[in-house]
Amino acid sequence: MPGRVLVVDDILPNVKLLEAKLSSEYFDVLTANNGPEALAVIERENPDIVLLDVMMPVMDGFEVCRRIKSDPRTTHLPVVMVTALSDVADRVRGIEAGADDFLTKPVVDSALFARVRSLLRLKMMMDEWRLREQTSSQLGMLAPRAMTELDTASARLLIIEDNAIDAFNMIESLSVDNGEVKRVDSGRAGFEAATRQDPDLVICSLNLEDDDALRLLSQFRANESTRHLPILMVGEEDQTDKLAKALDLGANDYLMKPVDRNELLARVRTQIRRRRYQELLRENYEQSLSLALTDSLTGLYNRRYLLSHLKRLMADTGHRHKPLSVLMLDVDHFKLVNDTHGHAVGDLVLQHITEIMRSNVRNVDTVARLGGEEFVIVMPDTHETFAVRIADRLRQRIADTPTVLPDGRALTVTVSIGCAMREMLDDETMEALMKRADMALYRAKGAGRNRVERDVPATNDPAAYGDATGS
Ligand code: GH3
Ligand code: MG
Ligand code: MG
Repeated sequence: MPGRVLVVDDILPNVKLLEAKLSSEYFDVLTANNGPEALAVIERENPDIVLLDVMMPVMDGFEVCRRIKSDPRTTHLPVVMVTALSDVADRVRGIEAGADDFLTKPVVDSALFARVRSLLRLKMMMDEWRLREQTSSQLGMLAPRAMTELDTASARLLIIEDNAIDAFNMIESLSVDNGEVKRVDSGRAGFEAATRQDPDLVICSLNLEDDDALRLLSQFRANESTRHLPILMVGEEDQTDKLAKALDLGANDYLMKPVDRNELLARVRTQIRRRRYQELLRENYEQSLSLALTDSLTGLYNRRYLLSHLKRLMADTGHRHKPLSVLMLDVDHFKLVNDTHGHAVGDLVLQHITEIMRSNVRNVDTVARLGGEEFVIVMPDTHETFAVRIADRLRQRIADTPTVLPDGRALTVTVSIGCAMREMLDDETMEALMKRADMALYRAKGAGRNRVERDVPATNDPAAYGDATGS
């Protein structure tokens, strides 16, 4: 796995040592000798992971970490603190500064590589989400946030632990965060609970009596619904190799027994925060996606969505064996509404018509705003005879239901509708079908408006469209 690793240490031999180890595993290594320089390299070179010394003059590792994690641009950059301190209090301090993990000097190779690879995987996933979010939200909807700002309360945790005392202690430690903690005592029950309840984090013992915890881990990663679920493994002091293996298989973090209460809390909070951050990215992405595909005045699908939807629908083999009808609808003399009552009233009329359309079609039908005062309704599996009937009912509804203006006045408008159908197994293009619906609409306008016309087969005299010059 390629990746750019930034090594930060004020003592040159330390830098050289880590650089040599990482280079031998084909990582791309950048270096810095103090905190400010590290921040500058991050800004300039955009590394994928930072290995950070804690004790440095001027600015210590905790402060560097805090700065990285509180900047929305770098908040997702994994930071591993490399420290001679093995004190739990220091580890907790580091995690609270936002560190993703710790390596103790002297650094053991297997632990180093497992850690780096695991965090790089995570970083790549986050990069992908950030990219999608950024490209789709050019509108800059929600300001990007730093991970450290996110709340970790009320999370749903699942503990897979068959040792009752260990489980009890963890549950008690975790109770301060007011989350919902559920415990199961076997791998099978854990897997089932995870797929059913979608917890925010799984805490899993590495030493289950009846199950192989590593196999369970692979199972979590192979399953669609649990693939991205954060997993924290809990092992024994002498199991570093097995824990490294767990990281390689996709565990997000681990702890050693006896579990220190504060370290457990800190690590759990880090995982929850990261999960919430990812959720936020995804929500932003989905929201901007829906903005790009819907019309803000009416909430209907826009032209872009309509065209891609219709294209897919017409190409779909299932639908090719059924007729498909398209209605094209245009408000009559709408310019007059604007000119007489103002644009704001025009908008209200469009919203009012939207509601009538929405409530008069089936769920499978798609209503879209093509632009201005023109709408399209796509009706899969619908014969033209039936489509025309629906269109006429719709036309009648609109003519009968005036828009009630804020001052109490009632304003009635009418619509003209053109209808076209694609026969089953017909190879007509979407453009041609839309064109025929548009022609039909044109004829409805020409024939006096407030009416529905079906398209005329191509064999008819094309001159029939010639005198429909009403608009
Ligand atoms: P016809 O019966 O032939 O369709 O006549 P018309 O006046 O409806 O047609 P025309 O295309 O001349 O005018 C459409 C008008 O719709 C002009 C435009 O200002 C108005 N319009 C387009 N989009 C909006 C909108 O979002 N809000 C409002 N209020 N008016 C809009
Ligand atoms: Mg019009
Ligand atoms: Mg128009």
